[in-house]
Amino acid sequence: MSINTIVIVGAGQAGYQVAASLRQEGFDGAITLVGDEPGVPYQRPPLSKAYLLGKVGVAALRFRPPEYFDEHRIARIQGSVAAIDRDHRQLLLTSGEKLSYEHLVLATGARNRVPSVPGMELDGVFGLRSLADADGLSQRLGHAKRAVVIGAGFIGLEFAAVAAARGISVDVLELGTRPMARAVSTVTSRVFDQAHASWGVRIHYGQSLAAILGADGHVTGVQLASGEALPADLVVYGIGVLPNAELASEAGLAVNNGIVVDTQLLTSDPAISAIGDVVSFPSPWAQQPIRLESVQNAVDQAKTVAARLMGKPASYTALPWFWTDQGELKLQIAGLSDGHDETVVLGSVEQRQISVLCFRAGRLVAVESCNRPADHMAARKLIARHIPLSAAEASAEGFELKAFEAATREAN
Ligand code: FAD
Repeated sequence: MSINTIVIVGAGQAGYQVAASLRQEGFDGAITLVGDEPGVPYQRPPLSKAYLLGKVGVAALRFRPPEYFDEHRIARIQGSVAAIDRDHRQLLLTSGEKLSYEHLVLATGARNRVPSVPGMELDGVFGLRSLADADGLSQRLGHAKRAVVIGAGFIGLEFAAVAAARGISVDVLELGTRPMARAVSTVTSRVFDQAHASWGVRIHYGQSLAAILGADGHVTGVQLASGEALPADLVVYGIGVLPNAELASEAGLAVNNGIVVDTQLLTSDPAISAIGDVVSFPSPWAQQPIRLESVQNAVDQAKTVAARLMGKPASYTALPWFWTDQGELKLQIAGLSDGHDETVVLGSVEQRQISVLCFRAGRLVAVESCNRPADHMAARKLIARHIPLSAAEASAEGFELKAFEAATREAN
């Protein structure tokens, strides 16, 4: 049966991409993109980087200019979807409007986890997920003197680097013992720990937040569980996200740390696909179903669903990759390092130019490259092609990832 009406819920990275890819693939039916944020769909990564530094404006964040959507007959509705009526293949918006679909793509993303401590309502406390958040923060950055960041994950540390570059005194509270511990090896953590220290950022490990302190409705500092207090006129939290999966679970779709999808990104209802930050999916690169929060994942999953809807079904097998920019450091990660048991470090930790090769049971599973973009590109190809490389080979004097990868291609 051919599909004529596709509705996409969520106009972020994945939602925009599936609409654009459907048109690229030649889909001629109706596409409606429903999103609850105002304005033209935009990318989030610069929000905690170049946009906050004032290096790019809002126009540079947009995936496409407004006229693109009219030219490509992608109808945009600004609104929030309240419920899915699967029996009638209809969406109910909070406005009361109803919208019929033949196929539905859920791309509702994730939202920030909010610390459950007193004082979160104080003026000067921010999460960083949306353009509205970044605009609010941007206004404060000009006047702020002391910022406290809750969480030494990617977003917290990206913000810390921006704030330090803007001359603000920055303290970071981290429950764990090293930065970005969920996602990177200890060697990479060490490089970033030292870099932040050199920029004047103080990261306090093993510390948890007890309360945000304030006076006259404005934030004045934070109280740690240890009893210590740190002054602040700006507090930014980055303690992870929660998938926006309630719409799916209330409609009876399977949800388990995200909307559960099969290898082709179909939910438990064949008329509904789901993609991006909100999905838990089986991956050939992981032992368990995973939920990833990355541009690569949102874009590649969107392309996989668009191709399937155009009669080209395939399993989603793309190798995960990710990047973060902090100060002059650009970290690029290829593959998933979970459970790695051996590492080989190429380059120089002192110069903050390294690639950490992560092996699990003798197989290269991930490479973390800091300011070594050629290594990152080579690593993506090597891992995706399952080229065998042992830790002993990688440790040999003069070993270069790029040359090794090129040689494996010539050999074939
Ligand atoms: P989103 O982009 O979050 O879009 C989901 C949209 O759906 C949102 O607009 C949401 O409001 C809307 N929505 C939710 N529920 C409803 C509803 N019921 N009705 C209507 N609309 C709804 N990734 C990288 O790879 N590299 C980076 O450097 C990087 N930096 C980042 C920096 C920041 C500050 C942030 C926040 C994220 C960053 N990411 C980065 C992650 C990346 O942006 C996300 O993985 C990506 O945006 C996920 O796309 P998505 O479409 O799944 O979700």
